[in-house]
This record gives sequence, structure tokens and C-alpha cells, in this order.
Amino acid sequence: MFNTHELSEIKKILNPQNKIVIITHYNPDGDAIGSSLGLKHYLNTKGVDAEVVVPNDFPKFLKWMPDAKKITIADYKQKKASDLIKNADIIFILDFNTPSRSGNFVSSLIEKSKGKKILIDHHQQPDTFDFVYSDTTIPATCQMIYHFIEAMEETHFINENTAKCLYTGIMTDTGGFRYRSTSATTHRITANLIEKGAEPSEISSNTWDTNSISRIHLLSLILSRLEVINDGKTAILYLKRDELKKYGFEKGDTEGFVNYGLSILGVEVSAFFIEDLYEEFIKISFRSKKNIDVNNFSRKYLNGGGHINASGGKSLDDMETTISKFKNLASELK
Ligand code: 5GP
Ligand code: MN
Repeated sequence: MFNTHELSEIKKILNPQNKIVIITHYNPDGDAIGSSLGLKHYLNTKGVDAEVVVPNDFPKFLKWMPDAKKITIADYKQKKASDLIKNADIIFILDFNTPSRSGNFVSSLIEKSKGKKILIDHHQQPDTFDFVYSDTTIPATCQMIYHFIEAMEETHFINENTAKCLYTGIMTDTGGFRYRSTSATTHRITANLIEKGAEPSEISSNTWDTNSISRIHLLSLILSRLEVINDGKTAILYLKRDELKKYGFEKGDTEGFVNYGLSILGVEVSAFFIEDLYEEFIKISFRSKKNIDVNNFSRKYLNGGGHINASGGKSLDDMETTISKFKNLASELK
């Protein structure tokens, strides 16, 4: 958490005279959107305005969240995003650890901005900013926003909207309260959020019971050819661009696919390779069990990063080469 001195500084600058912008990472997920909107609703309740800017569009299954429609998507509204970031007195950097994770356009705006930068994030090895609250043991940035509001002694400002947003990010980033970093504290906080108006069945249904036909068809395709190597310890899944097109891929359709590999008995690492729909690169997602560090692996070989048990990266090789290189390296993951 920020120290007492930092907290009192932050308290001073979070006032209605300052322009506040909240930014999150490229391809925002439930935790990114949940923490940004959760923080915004909390600030609004305090009487402070804030704008949320995201680098690119986010999945339909997150658009039910209160004020999701008011988010500025830099890909679609470059001028507005650029004006907001340029004129910001305070920039919150949520759920990412280095400007480059917000894509070229937004990251150059962050780097040029003179605003005070406040980082709240749970990824490994954060950059330096004016204020940094980084904790890699916490499962979700949404949980950190709750701790931050607690440290500000303002949990009375958590209303139904804030509660719904923070609950969503905790739920999605813990894989439904299943991953290792889910703690008793996580559950205590979600219990408080439920008391403040977050409705678990409504939120999980809004977020997860929204499969499109294209998603189910793509899932069936990748599961039917899932490969397990390395004595049953490593699962490999992949999707090619022509397949995405054939089944009518929509943003968010492949969220969570990588977890199917990890659900197989004996599998300790799951790798999912997917060609970008427009550009010549492959996005890779890793998930692992126990102490198998896929963050370091992604950093070392794939110009990526993330967490010990969930990370990602990119490859500029074609699919066959990328997968064959990975197969040669997979035994390092133990
Ligand atoms: P996902 O597989 O869900 O895209 O990402 C899993 C985790 O790895 C997330 O915490 C995400 O921030 C991180 N991650 C994914 N791709 C990249 C990447 O290209 N670079 C870095 N540094 N982190 C990534
Ligand atoms: Mn997160």
C-alpha cells in the first residue's frame, strides 16, 4: 500500500479541480475494466470526476458494467483520448506495469504527459511512477482498489456500482475464486462487496453465460485437436486466422480457452497460440500450476510477461515454427 505520506498527498490531489484520467492495458479484461470503472464510481461518489480511457475495444460480456458505455476507446476516438491524457493532472495506471502494455498510441501519450502518475497493479516488476502500489500476491487489481479505498478510510463511498465493478474483476481474475492467490481476505472483500450491492449470480451470469455460437464452434475445434506433450505435463492449443474468419470470430470469443488445457489431469502448463485477425503475429497465452514460472518464460523467449501462473507474449514466426520452437523449450517449464 502507499505509505502514510503518499496517501495524504493522494488525498489532497484527488479533488474536483484536478482532471483525472484512468487508463488500463491493451485488450482490457474483466479486472482492467472492473478496476477502472470501480475507481471511477468511487471518485464520482466523492464528488470527483474521472474519465476512463482504454487503448482498444473490450469484449461484449463486459459491456453490461455500469458506465461501460462512457469509456473512451482510443482506437475509435483518438482525438478525445489524446486530449484527455494530455490535459490530465492525474493519471491512474491500473492493471498494467509499464506504459508499453497500453499499446503504441496510448503509451506515447502517457510518456509525454506531465500529469502525476499513480500505479495500482499486481503484475511483476513494475516501472517507476510518482506513486506506486504494486503487490504481486494479490489476485486482482480490483482487490487492490478496495484496499486503496480502505486505506483512504472511505469504504462508505463504495456504492452498488463500485461494488459490482470490483466484484467482477475479482471474480474474473481469480477464475471464479479458483486460482492460488485467492485468499481469505479476497473472500472477506467480496463478502463486503455483496453487502454493498454486488449480486454474485447476476454478475456471473452477465459475464459468463453469454457464449456466442462462434465461441462454442471455435472451442469445439480447438478441443478436438488439443495436444498433450512432455509426458502429459504440457497442453497445446492453437487457432489460425482463416479459422477465426470461418467461424465468425468476435472479440472476447477465445477468452479463457487456455484454461481448458490446464483442466486436464496431470497437465501443469497450458499454452494457447492464436493468430491475430489482421496483423502478422501470434498472441500466446500461458497458464501454469504450482511454482512453474510462465512469467519468466514469456519474458525470456516471447517478449512478454505477466504473473507466475498466467502470462502472455507474441511471436512473429508462423504457427508451425512458433509451436515447434515452443515444443523444444517446453521441458524448461518445470
Ligand atoms: P492473457 O493470457 O489473459 O492475455 O494474459 C495473461 C497475463 O499475462 C495477464 O496478466 C497479462 O497482463 C499478461 N500478458 C499477456 N500478454 C502479455 C504481453 O505481451 N506482455 C506482457 N508483459 N504481459 C502480457
Ligand atoms: Mn489483473
